Formats: sequence, structure tokens, C-alpha cells
Amino acid sequence: MSAHDFNPLLDIPVFPASGFAPLADRLKRIFATGNDLLFIQAEALLALEAAASSLGRPGLVAVNVVTSPYGTYFGAWLRRAGADVVDVVAPSGQPVATEAVAQAIEMLGHVDLVAIVHAEAANGALNPLEEVAALARAAGALLVVDAVASAGGHAVDIEGLGIDIAVLGPQKALGGPVGLSLVTVSDRAWAAMQSVPRFSPSLLSLLDIKEAWLDRGRGALPGTPPPLEFHALAAAVDRLEAEGLAARITRHQRAAKASRAGLRALGVEPWVADDDRASALVTAAPVPDGVDASALIDAAAAFGVALGRGFGDIEHRLVRLDHTGGRAAFGPVLANVTAYGAALAALGQVVDIGAGAAAVTAVYGEA
Ligand SMILES: *Cc1c(COP(=O)(O)O)cnc(C)c1O
Repeated sequence: MSAHDFNPLLDIPVFPASGFAPLADRLKRIFATGNDLLFIQAEALLALEAAASSLGRPGLVAVNVVTSPYGTYFGAWLRRAGADVVDVVAPSGQPVATEAVAQAIEMLGHVDLVAIVHAEAANGALNPLEEVAALARAAGALLVVDAVASAGGHAVDIEGLGIDIAVLGPQKALGGPVGLSLVTVSDRAWAAMQSVPRFSPSLLSLLDIKEAWLDRGRGALPGTPPPLEFHALAAAVDRLEAEGLAARITRHQRAAKASRAGLRALGVEPWVADDDRASALVTAAPVPDGVDASALIDAAAAFGVALGRGFGDIEHRLVRLDHTGGRAAFGPVLANVTAYGAALAALGQVVDIGAGAAAVTAVYGEA
């Protein structure tokens, strides 16, 4: 190889400054929102930190739903900015109860902001976003939604639910790159940021991005935008437009339905019992008593299937069957269910692998 051989990862065509606004507009059309859409030139965790940092201030009263480490981080970032935060923590790996959020709001009397993850990729829970959005609206609070995982797997109705800030990640159900993320911002959220003590210049300041990009006619982005990531995002949007957002969501819903049917036919109840509160990105399956989670993951790996670990205090109690993005398809779903079943069988559990496979197949055979 010579030093000058063409390499597609290194010899990257420029992503023109004139391309950012049309790309943003395509994403706004896909998610049917008139809110502003910003690119964050980093993975979605930074976009979440930017949202918390841009809205958090001394005196702000926030109700923060915690159903995974992401919610814990969000609360920590709000507190760092001086906000008074009440965490509503769900049982491990389970969706939050709407009633628990309602009680927190009622107890506080006045709430400025409600933050919630929509669907979890970390544990398979789907939070009651519509219900919590209604509570936030009734309280006159801003609503911040971590839709990083849910966008493309569930409907995220930014306008209908009045989501003031939605953080979207291309790398999950949208099937795009990891190194960029998206934030939608309502007029109300921009107005609220005006009463936050200014901390610019900062990469965490959404107001800084507004002034440097939106207010200047959406041309060149500040800094050096990563061309590889932007080309990849545009390609992901091409694919998404070709498939259609509704079809993309249906594909994920079917993967979840088949995974859950497959687990039950094996003889195992999914970690999240309620089908209507289960994430379409991953399906969490229990690690039975007496079975070691690492041994289970290793046994599935022998079939070429990577089961995901749990997080936090349930790290050893569940595994995640991943059906996100390109994995929301018959082949990966069937492999997940049968390898999980075969791994359990190898560790001495009684499961019906044939019935599990048949149940997955039956869901994919439905018209
Ligand atoms: C994946 C994910 C994120 C972002 O995490 P990464 O570090 O970018 O993978 C944030 N929130 C949720 C709910 C996620 O699933």
C-alpha cells in the first residue's frame, strides 16, 4: 500500500455548509415538527447534557423520571446547574408509573420542567410518555424527552405531545452514525433558556448554537463539523425516507412482538410483563435464579449471538435481546430467541426451543 492510495475513510468529500439546513429540514419533516432542529457534533449523551445545562438554573424545579442510568445522569446535570430536582425512580428495569409522576408534581405544587426517557435500550422499558406529557402540560412545565432510542422504533409526537426538547440519536432505530445527535427546541424552551445565567462560550450551550447557526441563516456550523458523520447521517435519512418512518416503526414493533412471543413460548416471561409498556428496541429477558448472567451470555455467544448485559443493580438479573435498526428483522430475532433458549438449556434450564422458534415465525407469518 502506498501512502497515497485512496481510502474512503480518509479521503472524504467535503460536506458542504449549504447541506446542513436541507438535512435539518428533512429530519423536521420526518418527525413532523416545526420546532427548531439543531445538530450536536457529538454522541447523544452530550446532547442530553447540553439540554440539561441549557435549562438548569438555581430555582428551577424539576421532576426527573429515572428508569435507567440516562435518567440518573440527566438529574445530576440539572442539579449541577443549581436546579431543585425530584427524581421519580421506577423499579429496576421497569417503566415508571404515571401515578408516581403525578404524585411528585402534586407534592411540589409548582414544577418548571419534567424530564423523561421515552423507550429504553438499556433494559426494555417503555415509559408512558403520552400520560406524562399530559401531566407536564397541565402543570405548565417544560417537557424534555430523551428519544434517543425510541425515534424510529416508536412514534415520537413532538408537536402533539408538546415536547419542548427532544433529543434524538441517529445510532439506534434510525440506523445512522454515533458521532452526531439531534435536538429539537420549542419557542417555549428557547424563552426559558433566557433566564439561565449565560455560560458561553460552551459546547453545552444550545443558545450558543442558536446564535452561531440558526440566527445566522443555518449556513456553516461552528467548529469543524465531522464530514464522515454528516455523510452517514444523510445516508441514514435516505434509507429512512425510502422505508418510511411508519414502516420503520412497524418493523421494530413486530420484532418486539415476535421476541416476546418467542420468550413466552420458550417458557419464560419477559422482564417487562406488560406488552404495552415494552420497548421496541430491545427485549429484556430474565436470568433465572441459579443461572450466572456471564455464563448465559457466553453460552449464547457460542451460537454467534451477542446478548446484552443489564445495567446497574439488575446487571446480573436480565439480558437484552437487541432488535434495533437492521436487527429488527426475522433472522436476528429468531437467532436471539433460539440462542437465549439454547443457552438456558445448556445451563440446565427446561425450555422449549422449538416452540420459541415457532412463535417467532408465526408473528412474522402474520399478514
Ligand atoms: C443509547 C441511548 C442514549 C445515548 O447513549 P450513547 O452513549 O450515545 O449510546 C441516551 N439515552 C437513551 C435512552 C439511549 O438508549
